[in-house]
Amino acid sequence: MSDNAGITRRALLAGAAGAGVLAPMAGADVGPMAGEGPPPPSPGRAVLLRGGMVLTLDPAQGDYPRADVRLEGSRIVDIAPRIEAGDATVVDVGGCLVIPGFVDTHRHMWQGQLRNLLPDAVLGEYVQRILQEARPAYTPEDVFLGTRLSALGALNAGITTVLDWSHVGTSPAHADAGVAALRDSGIRAIYAYGSGAPGPENAWPGDLARLYREQHRGAEDRLGFALAAGLDPAPWAHARELGLPVSIHVNSTDALLPVAEHLDSQMIYVHGCRLSKAEWRLIADTGGGLSIAGPIEMQMGHGIPPYQQAIDHGVALSLGNDVETSTSGEFFTQMRTAFAVQRMLAQTAAAEGASAPALLGVREILAIATRGGAEVLGLADAVGTLAPGQRADIVVLDPGLLNVAPLNDAYGAVVTAMETANVRDVFVDGQALKWRGRLVGVDLGALQTALARSRASIVRAAGWSGDPLAPFSR
Ligand SMILES: [Zn+2]
Repeated sequence: MSDNAGITRRALLAGAAGAGVLAPMAGADVGPMAGEGPPPPSPGRAVLLRGGMVLTLDPAQGDYPRADVRLEGSRIVDIAPRIEAGDATVVDVGGCLVIPGFVDTHRHMWQGQLRNLLPDAVLGEYVQRILQEARPAYTPEDVFLGTRLSALGALNAGITTVLDWSHVGTSPAHADAGVAALRDSGIRAIYAYGSGAPGPENAWPGDLARLYREQHRGAEDRLGFALAAGLDPAPWAHARELGLPVSIHVNSTDALLPVAEHLDSQMIYVHGCRLSKAEWRLIADTGGGLSIAGPIEMQMGHGIPPYQQAIDHGVALSLGNDVETSTSGEFFTQMRTAFAVQRMLAQTAAAEGASAPALLGVREILAIATRGGAEVLGLADAVGTLAPGQRADIVVLDPGLLNVAPLNDAYGAVVTAMETANVRDVFVDGQALKWRGRLVGVDLGALQTALARSRASIVRAAGWSGDPLAPFSR
């Protein structure tokens, strides 16, 4: 089994290597910054980001109106108003904002080919279309391509860390393909191994041990692992034996109470819109973190996103895009949703005479989107903030474009006005993966050709029309 999986993995990697040319990514804004200026810094060279406005999101560091950031290898080694360049490649980020990369704590990346398929769906239709009709049709190659597309879209939007909630573990080869796609993209990820379509080859959850043994490359690796599971705690033991987190969707009331003794600080809860007070206390007492998918929860009927409940109970709070079948794959929409919903609810409560919580501001929102995600994933000592010793996962934002300029409030610009077009450069582990508005080393033509083939075969197997004006009927 593992030999076959290895062959598949190698074949997938070979097929995806492409020509290694620079090409604009679909959706990347090809504005004045795209393609201009010097080539990206060579891997392995020290880098000095010179003269940016640095929002560290680290409470001890604060903000720098103008500073240099020095990267060596995979880490930030210094942030100061002026650093001598020495041997470093100097990158001029004057006029730009420098922030930690966004951390997306819940996304089903295998569904990349099915983006925007279900804009009007509620949860029941999603389960039918995606999990019952499409998922059984997915081959390992389809998993690879969907995951790779989703990862590249995330990087393009400044998301440098993602938890891939990969409930397409239909066979060991499917799981290997998901892992291979994450590695291939260069994003920092936690591959959360979930069950897929039922069948004789489905080895979830026991295959987690094999996957981890073959794929885990130590603490410095960009790729970590977790188990994506349901409310039955029996499978969680497979993660616990390996010291790995468990992520579960909880969208009911009091379902956590019977499994209280199994909850711990490595739990990553998703949604939580209908949790009881007793469950909130339980999560707070056991130390797990929460991932909220605001747009999806409101569109698809999960309930009201519980930003405030998490804050009130002191539960680590983060954001996740969840399903690109019904929402965008970037984080500006997530931040604006959290900002609007929390303030709407708080001000409604105040207007009705109830005791109202404090309004969240844009600084808190950007902290949730970066540091909050790192805390929920157990990666706060590596990412989510900019500080010496942290991994160099850094996003350079250009506030000089027509949608933002002139810059009046740095956090306000990021949270209320920016979009993917403003994401100029993206570094993961000090390596430039997006440079001057373009993804680095991505052969978009080959990727699009492969994705079109993959999409067509899934649509055919699922029995859909594939017509963008009527996807499910002829
Ligand atoms: Zn989900």
